[in-house]
Parts: sequence; C-alpha cells; structure tokens
Amino acid sequence: MSWESLRAVLEPLPKWRSRARCTSREAELFFPSPGTAGATSENRAKAICHECDVRRECLLWALMNDEVHGIWGGFTPEEREVFVTLRSWTAVDE
Ligand code: SF4
Repeated sequence: MSWESLRAVLEPLPKWRSRARCTSREAELFFPSPGTAGATSENRAKAICHECDVRRECLLWALMNDEVHGIWGGFTPEEREVFVTLRSWTAVDE
C-alpha cells in the first residue's frame, strides 16, 4: 500500500484518537518540555503506547505528517527517523 493510500485511509482527522490510551492529563509524558525528558517518563509513555489499541494508526499518522515532536505509537522522534530513512530508501520516483 502506498503512503498516499494510507493517508486516504487514515484521514480525515482520525477517529482512532477517540480510542487512544493516552489522555490529555499525560501530555507531559508524551510531549515533555525541553530539557525535562527523562528515561523514566519516556518509558512510562512507551508502556502506555504498548497497551494501546491504536498504536499502529498513531505511528502511521505521525510518520505521514512528519511529526518531529513527542512520542507517537511508542516511538520517540529519533526512533521514528529510522522509519523516515527507510521510507526514503524505498521511495519510487513517479
Ligand atoms: S500509541 Fe501511544 S501516543 Fe499513540 S494514541 Fe496510543 S497511547 Fe497515545
């Protein structure tokens, strides 16, 4: 499935968010202020993601929208960079 096909499936703004395990109360875990992120809070966020029913949708959403902040789908921005790199390697010129 192409990225454009995935985008068409996941848009418009996602109903999957209503099934997200994270809540606004936990925003600081998923979007820590600069300089406050620590392994403990990152691991807590990832543990919540690990139990989330919409983890795949969340990760795809972040990748398709080039999210550079926060934990999405259980991955940090640095970890998502790997997916972005792989995507660029597999991209086919149209
Ligand atoms: S995967 Fe994580 S960040 Fe994404 S909706 Fe679920 S709990 Fe929230």
